[in-house]
Amino acid sequence: MLYGKIYLVGTGPGDVELITVKGYKLICQADVILHDHLIPSELLRLAKPGAEIISVGKFAGRHTMPQEQINKLLIEKARDNKVVVRLKGGDPLLFGRGGEEAEECVQAGVDFEFVPGVTSALAAPCYGGIPPTHRDCTSNVAIVTGHRKDEKEIEIPKAGTIIFLMGVANIEKIIKSLLEAGWPGQTKIAAVEKGTCYDQRVIQGTLDDFLEVTQKAQMRTPAVFIVGKVVELKAKLDWFGKKLRILLPGTHPDKYRHLGIIIHRPLIRSVPLDDYTQADKVLKQLNTFDWIVFTSTNGVEFFFQRLNAIGLDTRSIGTVKVAAIGKTTAEKLKTFGVLVDMQPNLESSTGLLDEFKKVSVKGKRILLVRPKVGSNMLLDGLADADAAIEAVVVYRNVDIEPEETDFNFIDQILFTSGSTIRAFLKLYGSVPEGVKVYCLGQPTLNEAKKHNIPAELLP
Ligand code: SAH
Repeated sequence: MLYGKIYLVGTGPGDVELITVKGYKLICQADVILHDHLIPSELLRLAKPGAEIISVGKFAGRHTMPQEQINKLLIEKARDNKVVVRLKGGDPLLFGRGGEEAEECVQAGVDFEFVPGVTSALAAPCYGGIPPTHRDCTSNVAIVTGHRKDEKEIEIPKAGTIIFLMGVANIEKIIKSLLEAGWPGQTKIAAVEKGTCYDQRVIQGTLDDFLEVTQKAQMRTPAVFIVGKVVELKAKLDWFGKKLRILLPGTHPDKYRHLGIIIHRPLIRSVPLDDYTQADKVLKQLNTFDWIVFTSTNGVEFFFQRLNAIGLDTRSIGTVKVAAIGKTTAEKLKTFGVLVDMQPNLESSTGLLDEFKKVSVKGKRILLVRPKVGSNMLLDGLADADAAIEAVVVYRNVDIEPEETDFNFIDQILFTSGSTIRAFLKLYGSVPEGVKVYCLGQPTLNEAKKHNIPAELLP
């Protein structure tokens, strides 16, 4: 039985994908989730409908909930026969008070499990291109807190590399302690701020100049400090810092992963229509068409959702031919049991129109599945080819408030549809200077040009 149990789960350091599969599955199953400040909202969105999500980091917009209150809440929810998932940044047991919370469970007689996480102590150096150990430098590493209870002195253990957490406010004290412990002033030190996140920065110096360097750079939190010869390896191994940082206001972030660090900030969400009277009339006579054209995965999803809602299914398509604008849309169709008859190599309206030129569409009845507001390129193009083209609107797009973005850390923006360009301009007014813009497909590029955005077609 899963019920009435507390899972103390590490979420990893910041990059959402660094959570473990076990942690991911537990978030999906949880009845109650208690989380700290700075847990990525993408993870919280995995929660099942109706799950109770409680922030104990900055609860009620104020400061952190006192530890005793967190403990009490955890026990209370578990005793209520709930699957309680307690999310903690990095690893739950490394400076995370996971141990203390588990002791409370034992005391209360409530079952608990630990799920380890990727700790920032190792992930931040890893994304900073600094291996904590290396055979040419050191065979050991110590992880130390830069912030001790009751202002106690900072401990400097004997080790080849020392990694400090919770040290930003105390960096002066850390450096002083290192020098007093005999580390030479020329020792290399690095801060990895916001490790594993798109806005990660690595600040480097020596014990002698680091205070000045970090002040100049206006160091941010959270940060991990790495002290020792291994810091020199960054010059060779900086893999993450070299990647392009690409803002994607559209959908399908995984499709573009090979291009760089994808900062996914959806600006619109597709939602059902309020009124399906028009659509239903069309959906009830699908077999009167020669072709059905799908231009997005959303179109596919809402089309079949509505078809099911009125008691119909894939069989309504019968022998009607199906076209998809691209691979992702074709794959979505496959999940509904439909193999496409047409899919252009060039994934765009132009590509699809060229493909239709190869078959005779004169007088053919073609149904275009589309959102309420969208490009007219296909409609016009097929009408020009003398097809009897008709559109069925099955969903609409609404604006959503995206997570904050620091444009100082953005190299490029990739627009994948005209509607995201309009939503972006509505929100930000313009594209920040120095940011290069790419567009997927000619209609998207046309929309960018219309707004005087210097842009190029995504190669
Ligand atoms: N349990 C956590 C650590 C909690 S203590 C873990 O295993 O990572 C909080 C400290 O973690 C911060 O002061 C900072 O030093 C470090 N930290 C957390 N996230 C970080 C990140 N993304 N980049 C750099 N340091 C981070």
